[in-house]
Amino acid sequence: MSESADALSSLARRRRQIVTVFIAAGALVFIALWAFETSAGLIKPSDEWAYPLVIVFLCLNLLGVIARPQLQPYAELACYLVVAFYLVAQVALFALGPPDQGIYDVANTLQWMPALYVAAFMFFPRRRAVVAVTVTFLLSSLALGIAALQASVSDDLRVSALLVNAVVAHLLTLLLLSLVTMLRTEYDRVARHARSMEDAARTDPLTGIANRRALEDWMQSFEHQDAERGAALVLFDIDHFKTINDQHGHLVGDEILVMTAQLIRSQLRTMDRVGRWGGEEFLVILEDVSMANALRFADRVRHLVTVSAHPVAGSVTISAGIALCSPGEAVADTFRAADAALYAAKSGGRNRVSESA
Ligand code: GH3
Ligand code: MG
Ligand code: MG
Repeated sequence: MSESADALSSLARRRRQIVTVFIAAGALVFIALWAFETSAGLIKPSDEWAYPLVIVFLCLNLLGVIARPQLQPYAELACYLVVAFYLVAQVALFALGPPDQGIYDVANTLQWMPALYVAAFMFFPRRRAVVAVTVTFLLSSLALGIAALQASVSDDLRVSALLVNAVVAHLLTLLLLSLVTMLRTEYDRVARHARSMEDAARTDPLTGIANRRALEDWMQSFEHQDAERGAALVLFDIDHFKTINDQHGHLVGDEILVMTAQLIRSQLRTMDRVGRWGGEEFLVILEDVSMANALRFADRVRHLVTVSAHPVAGSVTISAGIALCSPGEAVADTFRAADAALYAAKSGGRNRVSESA
């Protein structure tokens, strides 16, 4: 699996865990309210059946998310709708009843609504979150406005002020949440841009493989890691490349560079790394291999390059130098040894692989 696919699946797993905890917490809050209000004699007749219904619904959704992860988006929406409906209904019932009654219930409802808004912005896509919270807010504000008017008509200014305060506080919460969401979207965009710039800074634009900077980082990180077994550095260099350029032009030269990079890549294991060291030189880092295996790898590449004729330039040859780096050894020394081996391959007649002495 690629690194980004890996990151996406672990993000989805983490998100599912958070949603599960959120729904479980919602169910626990309703269970606690039900138990407390029943024992304190504060429970309304409607809540005697509404609480258990909401609790059963949340628990069913919780089981659904755990058993069938693909149900998660529906469960999120269903839980939001049921809890929002319950809270808005509480506010509406309060608005329809006499103003001096149910102040405990409505105050309780009002302090839970921001948690619902936060959940919507956390779990829904931005547009759906905005629609969901706007509808919930407008419906509850309408009911609260009516209740506030009734309270002020009957000179209960404290209740009226409490309700208006709640509407303003909820509105402010929603504005802040929208702002945070906007900032998060912008942050994600900048982070994506920074990642693609970082990738570009470590990629050779012609061949699409790593560039020298990435290779140097890998070599350094290999030196610092507690590797149990060593690595082989294989330095490839296309033979007489200058002549190919001179005879067929730089574009043909470029095509040969791309072809060679692809051929080397086709012979790598997932743990191996390749990059363009510069010009027509490619460096391969083979972790955990013997010299015999590194030689076999380099000769396979050499053979493939020789038989893969370019349509214009024809057959091209390549030479390679190999050196082994044991744990604790300086990678720069190994690179120098591989370079010396490459020089030996060149002076030995080219189109061959040499190992360091
Ligand atoms: P040798 O067999 O000894 O390696 O000889 P060579 O001609 O391959 O080596 P030399 O170092 O003399 O020439 C390398 C050439 O690679 C010179 C340079 O113009 C060419 N080159 C470097 N980068 C690029 C590139 O990105 N595209 C193309 N087409 N040519 C490049
Ligand atoms: Mg060269
Ligand atoms: Mg060359």
